[in-house]
Amino acid sequence: MDDLAARLKDLLFPSVANVVVLSLDVNIATVRVDVRCTTAGASCPLCETWSERVHGSYLRFPADVPSGGRIVVLRLRVRRFTCPNASCGQRTFVEQRPGLTRHHGQRTERLRSTLSDIGLALAGRAGARMTRELGVGVSRSTVLRLVDALPEPDPPAPRVVGVDEYATRKGRHYGTVLVDVESRRPVDLLPDREAASLAAWLAKRPGIEVVCRDRAPFFAEGATAGAPQAVQVADRWHLWHNLSEAAERSVSQHRRCLRVLAPTDPQTEAEPALAAEPATSPWMTSNRFADRTRTCPVDLGRPTVTPR
Ligand SMILES: [Zn+2]
Repeated sequence: MDDLAARLKDLLFPSVANVVVLSLDVNIATVRVDVRCTTAGASCPLCETWSERVHGSYLRFPADVPSGGRIVVLRLRVRRFTCPNASCGQRTFVEQRPGLTRHHGQRTERLRSTLSDIGLALAGRAGARMTRELGVGVSRSTVLRLVDALPEPDPPAPRVVGVDEYATRKGRHYGTVLVDVESRRPVDLLPDREAASLAAWLAKRPGIEVVCRDRAPFFAEGATAGAPQAVQVADRWHLWHNLSEAAERSVSQHRRCLRVLAPTDPQTEAEPALAAEPATSPWMTSNRFADRTRTCPVDLGRPTVTPR
């Protein structure tokens, strides 16, 4: 019998220590597993004092991951212990099994982890539909709450960090997004785009060697104050964006020169007729674009890159 209980424990809870399976009840729709802890006592969660003074016990019924299309419910007997530390504010406490239960948890840790993974992959509504397919249907709010309760990931400090702004409400409220340029993954979001916030974030990560940013003055000030050891560079997107704007502006300023030269170009003989189209015609837009992109033989001057 003990051998059977040990095999059931290894089968049902391979990663949970100090529990024993007392019985297993299987019917058409449900699997009910009787479990209890085998330790003599438990540590107080507040002062971590070991206690074997049992105050009482009761049953918990945490939902578990389905098995063979059946709902699995644990019938877990837990004990309430008295903390022997007279100065501790926690007079009694309930034992928890790491990897199996948590305080006030309605689900086992592995079911909680499964639902969190579904939430991360599918988010609320689609995640809730998937949980119903798996036989552990929960609401979309529950899926999102489980995702929200996950611990914050702690990504390694980037060596090259990109800084830019993002809008939570365009024109009204902006924050700062920080990206690991080498891994191309966002690292953090700051709730504003103040120099002091950026400086404080950078100061906590002395390993940053390069700050890649646009020409916003608050980013320049924050990067200088927070990471004086880092090289500051303009990011490629803003360089190309500003260059293209400057080139377009220069060509646009020389449109008159292009129109004078246009009749001499045999490829544009039909242009006067098209130019007579109404201003709202898409042909007109097309010709204007052609004018601006055609090679001009005169000196267009030196394009200037305008800071944002
Ligand atoms: Zn205590």
